[in-house]
Amino acid sequence: MYIYSEEEKNRVIYDHDALIIGAGLSGLRVAIELAQKHDVAILTKVQALRSHSVAAQGGINAALREDDSWEMHAFDTVKGSDYLADQDAVEILTQEAPRAVIENELWGTAFSRTPTGNIAQRPFGGAGYPRTCYAADRTGHNLLHTTFEQAMRLGIKFYDEFFATSLVRDDNRIVGVTALEISSGAVHGFTAKAVVVATGGFGRVYARSTNALINTGDGCALALRVGVPLKDMEFVQFHPTTLYGSSILITEGARGEGGHLLNAKGKRFMGKYAPDKMELAPRDIVARAIRTEVLEGRGFEGRYVHLDLTHLGKDRIMERLPGIREICVHFAGIDPIDEPIPVLPGQHYSMGGIDCDKYGNTTLPGLFAVGEAACMSVHGANRLGGNSLLETLVFGRVVGQKVIEYLGSAKSPSKQVVDDEAYRIREKLQTMTIKEQGESLHELRTKLTEAMDDYVGVFRNANDIKKALKVIREVRIGFENLALGEMDQRFNYSLIRALELENMIDLAESIAQGALMRKESRGAHWRVDYPNRNDEKFLKHSLATLTPEGIKISYKDVNLGRFEVKERMY
Ligand SMILES: Cc1cc2nc3c(=O)[nH]c(=O)nc-3n(C[C@H](O)[C@H](O)[C@H](O)COP(=O)(O)OP(=O)(O)OC[C@H]3O[C@@H](n4cnc5c(N)ncnc54)[C@H](O)[C@@H]3O)c2cc1C
Repeated sequence: MYIYSEEEKNRVIYDHDALIIGAGLSGLRVAIELAQKHDVAILTKVQALRSHSVAAQGGINAALREDDSWEMHAFDTVKGSDYLADQDAVEILTQEAPRAVIENELWGTAFSRTPTGNIAQRPFGGAGYPRTCYAADRTGHNLLHTTFEQAMRLGIKFYDEFFATSLVRDDNRIVGVTALEISSGAVHGFTAKAVVVATGGFGRVYARSTNALINTGDGCALALRVGVPLKDMEFVQFHPTTLYGSSILITEGARGEGGHLLNAKGKRFMGKYAPDKMELAPRDIVARAIRTEVLEGRGFEGRYVHLDLTHLGKDRIMERLPGIREICVHFAGIDPIDEPIPVLPGQHYSMGGIDCDKYGNTTLPGLFAVGEAACMSVHGANRLGGNSLLETLVFGRVVGQKVIEYLGSAKSPSKQVVDDEAYRIREKLQTMTIKEQGESLHELRTKLTEAMDDYVGVFRNANDIKKALKVIREVRIGFENLALGEMDQRFNYSLIRALELENMIDLAESIAQGALMRKESRGAHWRVDYPNRNDEKFLKHSLATLTPEGIKISYKDVNLGRFEVKERMY
């Protein structure tokens, strides 16, 4: 929809009631809810089916059986979160879970089945019941394609390969977005009464991550820049089992199907760390156990341990874990039917994100957040496997309904403010592309991400985190003097990578600053210099805000509920 005339080619403004940034499961699900009532469009930097949701392997949680219940699911989630999750949000997540799974099944997702024809469920880490529904080890692929088909059926408008460059704020509300059209290099303004950020996680702030290369947390950084805080950023999930050498995820489903972890002495070691749950303890605990085995000299080549599936047999591996087998064969030259898989922990999930309530409302009216980009918070200090796909579908619907309510009384936004912002972004990008001599993008990105791996990893301490903050400051200064070496307007991927790096710098600082200030160990955040949980001081969400002096941290209360805060044992 053009508001400006043709002759103002580079000054087009598009107008929609609601704009969603991100075409992963969460963005698509919000759009489906909205499309029945409003003019909604999705902006996405890659075609929808390339969103990281497509890579999800292991499954999606829902209490579907009579001997399971949403209360049991909620308890596992709250305990898994080390009591930092907001319990009112967890109740929505777990109560709505069966509905979300069955809705997607009716849309066409081909879930694996039990012999009697029910949706099959496997055990997952930290769960007191085998409640993870799966489609072999390609659950995200199935869910995303099915959900995308529904979006197509409703005729939702997509702006594919548009990179959101800023959110536009007019006084105290959101009025739109600016975006770079990657194919042409044109910067466009979009006016909208409501904007939903569904840009996924930011795993690529770390060098060794299971995340897609596009997971740079753009939407979170854009929100931070219009004054919206980020919440609980220090809580970064390290998945215990990523493939040695490439960091590709080896799903928790492999342990759910009965896989064992072995150290270099050939010993199954989880009994020492989680005697009841063993390999199916929550991820933070298993990741620390593997790192401890390696640090104490019981790893292979001082780096990794083995995940052994050989006793499961060929038939089971081929039926339940075919994708994992392919990954091992192609990327490590190992067939897990015959040999154990070399694994080590790697960055996997961002528990933190845009501060919002259980309906996706942020502190800026009209701006909503959902999915991995959001922090509602249902995962607290440690997410349980299978709860994240669930979050995208459950809260996609909930947030869609809240946006409809908001649109009922929202005023039309000012085109002028959006146009002025698009002009500012055009000038900024021009300045970025013309510089011929300066710092190298690749070197800055590597320096930042390796510092996060080295200094803000599974085990943390104040000295290391300060080292990370020093590197982040150097990268920030280096970025000011960046030379892209690529001036073409069309498909300028150097420019895209640079804009991503700019976002990653703010996110890295939020993570490191949050980690420095949180002087306790809780869930995935483990401070060797403060090894105990300190509920008196830190049973709180952290909030990161951007100030002229850098990231500042403050705290707010957790919404407690029916489950009493206790010590976490497995
Ligand atoms: C390898 C892997 C396996 C996983 N397995 C499981 C599992 O088995 N079970 C489970 O529960 N969870 C799993 N997860 C986590 C889960 O898949 C994700 O948290 C979830 O799919 C995120 O969905 P999303 O919609 O929030 O974001 P994504 O699917 O990441 O989509 C983000 C969207 O934002 C768009 N975008 C980003 N930046 C911009 C920008 N600047 N401009 C325009 N568009 C932008 C992208 O184009 C994309 O469409 C897994 C994650 C990984 C990495």
